[in-house]
Amino acid sequence: MSLQYATAWIWPLIAAPFAGSFLGVLVLRMPVGRPVAFARSACAHCHETLGPAELIPLASWAALGGRCRHCDARLGLFYPGIELAATAVAVWAIMALPPALVWPGCALGWTMLAASLIDFRHLILPDSLVLPLVPAGIALHALIVPDHWPDHVIGAAAGFLGFALIRQIYGRLRGREGLGLGDVKLLAAAGAWVGWVGLPSVVFLAAAFVLTGLAAGRLVGRAVDRTAEIPFGPALALAVWLVWLYGPLVPQ
Ligand SMILES: [Zn+2]
Repeated sequence: MSLQYATAWIWPLIAAPFAGSFLGVLVLRMPVGRPVAFARSACAHCHETLGPAELIPLASWAALGGRCRHCDARLGLFYPGIELAATAVAVWAIMALPPALVWPGCALGWTMLAASLIDFRHLILPDSLVLPLVPAGIALHALIVPDHWPDHVIGAAAGFLGFALIRQIYGRLRGREGLGLGDVKLLAAAGAWVGWVGLPSVVFLAAAFVLTGLAAGRLVGRAVDRTAEIPFGPALALAVWLVWLYGPLVPQ
């Protein structure tokens, strides 16, 4: 194994649980407008500030048996869960991507993970998470596929306009909001990453995931009526991730 290959996977793997920890803070604080950076972590029960040794992702949680060292309250599965998920994203990126693309892959995957969780819990997709993906996607592809960067600019525009149009039509016909504006911006970000060529696959897969989710919900007795608000973000995020890693459903 070459040195380049080893460093391409070892650093993302080390960083992943820490990234997951940060995403956890982001998911809990961003939707309620609490400051994300420069805030010391504290136990949710006794509000005791956690020391450096208690903040090592996964290891601290396991060493303390999932309980606060001060008040013995259960710490819950949220943090170890998101730290494991961020690690899984890094492993997936390492396995699916050439070494030079592992970090951009992690950045996309981790952002999508946080956006999905926030949308799932609060039915919003924060602009500060989604919008930076548009210039980032275009800049990245201008570097790695210089001949094709216009495809990604067109993709971002098509994603935004296409979804905005569907949103307008749906709103007129049904008299209520069907797609959030956050979904429109997320599809613009999708277009910036997968190009206009990949956009139909993203929309198709996302719709398939939502329908599968609804069918599964019906099976376990959680039927959704016509007025229910369904978070579209997680399905869209997973679709973007898959199409960016593996290409459109119908290869060119
Ligand atoms: Zn405590």
